[in-house]
Amino acid sequence: MLGLTAVVFATSAVAAPVDADVLLRGGTIHDGSGAKPVVGDVAVRDGRIVAVGKVTPGKIGRTIQCRGLVIAPGLIDVHTHTDGTLDQPGVRPCLNYVIQGCTTMVTGNCGGGPVDVAKFLTGVETNSAGVNLLVLAPHGSIRSKVMGSERRAPTAEELERMKTLVGQAMRDGAWGMSTGLIYPPGSYAETDELIALARVVAAHGGVYVSHIRDEADHVLKAVEEAIRIGRESGASVHISHFKSMEIPNWGCIRDAAAMIEKARAAGLKITADQYPYTANSFSLVNATLPEEQVQWCKREELGKRMASDAEFAALVRRVIANRLGRYEKIVIAASKKFPDYVGKSLKEIADKEKIETVDLVLKIVAQEAPEVVCHSMSEKDVRWAMALPWVATASDGAARAQNPAEHHHPRNFGTFARKIGRYAIQDKAIPLPQAIRSASGLPADIFGIPERGYLRPGYHADIVVLDPATYRDQATFSKPQEYATGVRYVFLGGHAAVDDGQPGAKLFGRVLRHRSTKQSRAAADRSAPFEARVEVEETVCHPEAANNGAGMFWGSGSTQIVRIGDKLFVSAFEVVPGCAPLNNARWALYERGADGWRLCQRDMKDRTREPSPLCASHAGRLLMSVNPTLAPWVPAPPDFGKTQYTRSGGNISSPFKGGPARPEFLEFDPARPEREPKHLLPQWNGEPKFTEHTYRGFAADGKNGEFILFQNVGSTHREWAFLDKNGDWKTGQLMNPQGEDPKYAPYHDLRARVNYPNVILHNREVHFIGQSPYNIWNRIDPLKTDTWGRDKWGWRMRKLHYAWTPDIKTTPFREWMVLDDTMADGGTVGLGDSWLAPDGRLHLVWQKEPIHPQLRDTYFPDIKRDWHLCYGILKEGKLIAKRVVISGGETTGPLHPTGYIGHPRFHITPDHTLYILCNIVGTTPQTTAQTGTYAMRIEADGSISVPVRIPFARPITSAFFTASPRAGNRLTEAADLLIADTVDGKLVARYARIRFCRPD
Ligand SMILES: [Zn+2]
Repeated sequence: MLGLTAVVFATSAVAAPVDADVLLRGGTIHDGSGAKPVVGDVAVRDGRIVAVGKVTPGKIGRTIQCRGLVIAPGLIDVHTHTDGTLDQPGVRPCLNYVIQGCTTMVTGNCGGGPVDVAKFLTGVETNSAGVNLLVLAPHGSIRSKVMGSERRAPTAEELERMKTLVGQAMRDGAWGMSTGLIYPPGSYAETDELIALARVVAAHGGVYVSHIRDEADHVLKAVEEAIRIGRESGASVHISHFKSMEIPNWGCIRDAAAMIEKARAAGLKITADQYPYTANSFSLVNATLPEEQVQWCKREELGKRMASDAEFAALVRRVIANRLGRYEKIVIAASKKFPDYVGKSLKEIADKEKIETVDLVLKIVAQEAPEVVCHSMSEKDVRWAMALPWVATASDGAARAQNPAEHHHPRNFGTFARKIGRYAIQDKAIPLPQAIRSASGLPADIFGIPERGYLRPGYHADIVVLDPATYRDQATFSKPQEYATGVRYVFLGGHAAVDDGQPGAKLFGRVLRHRSTKQSRAAADRSAPFEARVEVEETVCHPEAANNGAGMFWGSGSTQIVRIGDKLFVSAFEVVPGCAPLNNARWALYERGADGWRLCQRDMKDRTREPSPLCASHAGRLLMSVNPTLAPWVPAPPDFGKTQYTRSGGNISSPFKGGPARPEFLEFDPARPEREPKHLLPQWNGEPKFTEHTYRGFAADGKNGEFILFQNVGSTHREWAFLDKNGDWKTGQLMNPQGEDPKYAPYHDLRARVNYPNVILHNREVHFIGQSPYNIWNRIDPLKTDTWGRDKWGWRMRKLHYAWTPDIKTTPFREWMVLDDTMADGGTVGLGDSWLAPDGRLHLVWQKEPIHPQLRDTYFPDIKRDWHLCYGILKEGKLIAKRVVISGGETTGPLHPTGYIGHPRFHITPDHTLYILCNIVGTTPQTTAQTGTYAMRIEADGSISVPVRIPFARPITSAFFTASPRAGNRLTEAADLLIADTVDGKLVARYARIRFCRPD
């Protein structure tokens, strides 16, 4: 199940002897995680790492003393163009990389590379290579194959063919798709084309890798486009050779990084890589004659057009002169037509030939478009960006042999030794563990490369041993083909490719094929019984935060989305401008009709503190529970909006007041929802002291058209009001369960509140389920007050309480039951959802979160921090079944469900198939990041399917509501979701519709 059960390698205190083929002894171990190094041993057997740390040697084949040497994972280069060079003479050993400690590289970058991934990979396997190779599907080459060099959007048919080729490449083992959006034909592709293709990549679990559209004047717009492609396709995004180049744009990289960090904070998986040099390399034409600036004139036609069009000729000269001014210098890297120019700068050549540099450029491009090295970046920028935790190291070079006819960028021979040796070890510009991580664990995480990138037991034995004193790049811009120094050993799959500083003749590289999540789902999970399709993703509205402690989804147990036939209604939660909290909010009713979402009306009369849940009946009644305040208007203080007032009115430190309130139902006409609603006032017994703070439960019996509201009064009880189909009210009280010693209760009361409840109403049967907060739990000694108390770590939801009555009109509620609790381990329990099936079985899903980490670390180190998603069935007031669906954490592995109250939801189809929808976070070493929203189907025999990822374009990072049958909704095939989201720091209510289908 998604690798939830990870293999556990014991690291026991009593070390058993380890047998090994190779034992690396007493080195400084950097494991690739960025953690502080430890001095210890690494044992290798049968191509795998079998032990890391203090090893008691058993039978050992070979011991290598590593004292004073660094032992690190074999380095991974995420950005190369080796697919274009591997067949050249002497290149297969990839010695320029191996000698730097590099064991794995990604090729097919910048949109260029083999379209037939299967053929390429088989070719590499047949002819072998010195490093492990991964390949990307190259967008530019795929576009060329389908459309030639057409500068236009693809037709629908062409787009389908490109999608098919990308899909084929992904099935053949590509790890994602690369784009090169400054080079034709990539530059001809509009964002929509890229999104459509990136969706294919996302469906296979791949990465969208981009040489973005502009790395100079428009770098920010280009980053924005990459982010949008990630958001709208669902693919994770990786920006290649991240930089802001050309003198006027120095410093812009910080703004670009800030955009990326914002997107990361909002849940997008986006990373970048960088080569540690201030010069880039591409063709002289790209550097001086960007196609769009010379009116899309091709190099071959330039001379002819200039000769016949003086105005055009002047423009071209202006463009070249302007471009030349943006670089410190441009050096010719390779040239067939002008071999004497190689290694010299344009300025040097022009001076020698006594011509203008512009004329020199024209002279060269008339013959060819040689590769050049452009000194275009700021050293300050390069140093700053290399320290970012999401920036990997990459060469943007290629495997090459030393060749006197070439004068390429020194990054081919020096990137890793330069970043780790020069920048980290020598200059200390970046901590060494981070420099190593940026070239090992981080790249493995970015592409989800299984069992590589870290020194961990069970992982492939790709290892480098280097001498920190001598590990340096030797290649320079004037002598770019010097091998790096200082690597003592390189192991690939346990084989020594470099032994005591000497490279061997044998090649140990392997082809690494991506296992498409689509295929692995089909292959490994034959039990994956369905596919989740996202049919709609839309924005409902942008509500402004009320800043009164009540979020958009505070009424977690009651829903704010209902469906009546083809129409959907959402109750939004808005701020009332100019008003002080706590009663500074109001409801707004939105409708989704044929033209999308529209505001029907908002409350212009009353104010309230909390969201207003909705209910419906099958006959089409639409009711809203509201709780208008009776307290007077208080103008907002001048600093309101700048200061966060997030605590409730119960907190004495809050400057704002709640006050009395008057619960009522509003009934809207679903056919004319803009009309003034009817106000229905419950007939209470006496005068209950309702306040702004309700912990309300609002439910409907959809079939019978009856409604019930539960609303808190103090901490002693709830008042309930039942509205029957004839319009008659019945009201009553539900006393809260007896609490623990009131001294330790959060409300200092004899009774425990049951908060955020789920209420179910069916044929006058009423079920009430919620969680109760406690300051106390079994391991806390009430006398040792330093470990608990609301402002410390004590106050948590710890018991899941349940009460029910078979007939609300005639029978009192039965005694409270505790369905589950966390009194033993100090964790938190939170109800997600509930459904009363027609057979009378009540299905429940809830979560358990672990103890607060600080409390555990300080006082209870023996408690394991684990998360659990639980599912249970109640029948006639008894819990007849309970099981843990997903666990994650310190005992059971890295994946776990997120959130607690209200997070897992049910979706029930008309044939009573039950799905659990829930957010899961985490990354397993075996797989890529698994963070996302998943669905699990509960089968008729009670077994639960494997989690199936719901491929949202924009992932759900927080809570969501469904149009629950608890609110009177009919069962539907597709699930309607109302999602709380934040975009650019602003609240957004979003809607999504998901359909569960048979796998295709
Ligand atoms: Zn590139």
